[in-house]
Amino acid sequence: MDYYAGVHKIKTYLNELGFEVDLFSDQLPSDVLGRTYYVERKVLLNCCSAREAFFTILHEAGHVLAYNKYFLRLKQKQPPPEKREVYAYLYGWIVNKQLELGLTKEEWRSQELTSA
Ligand SMILES: [Zn+2]
Repeated sequence: MDYYAGVHKIKTYLNELGFEVDLFSDQLPSDVLGRTYYVERKVLLNCCSAREAFFTILHEAGHVLAYNKYFLRLKQKQPPPEKREVYAYLYGWIVNKQLELGLTKEEWRSQELTSA
């Protein structure tokens, strides 16, 4: 799996959805790998390896897609915390399928179990 190529594919996809992406942000707390800002339409990442960046940006892309496809339709400007993470997981999988990133269900599932 070429994580580096995957990161750039997802970054391009997010740009096309109108979200700016900063792969090397210095604005996040050191223990936070990535964060999506819905209203500002920004995704910030702060990762060490290509693999980590890949799983993080895919998770954040899940947040963005869930926001566009689900929460905005319910007129929710900020997705509720209790639903936000599970929807990021579900929609992250859809992004993987759409962009043909080649991630297996097992990899995605095991990654989500270890990430907050
Ligand atoms: Zn999340």
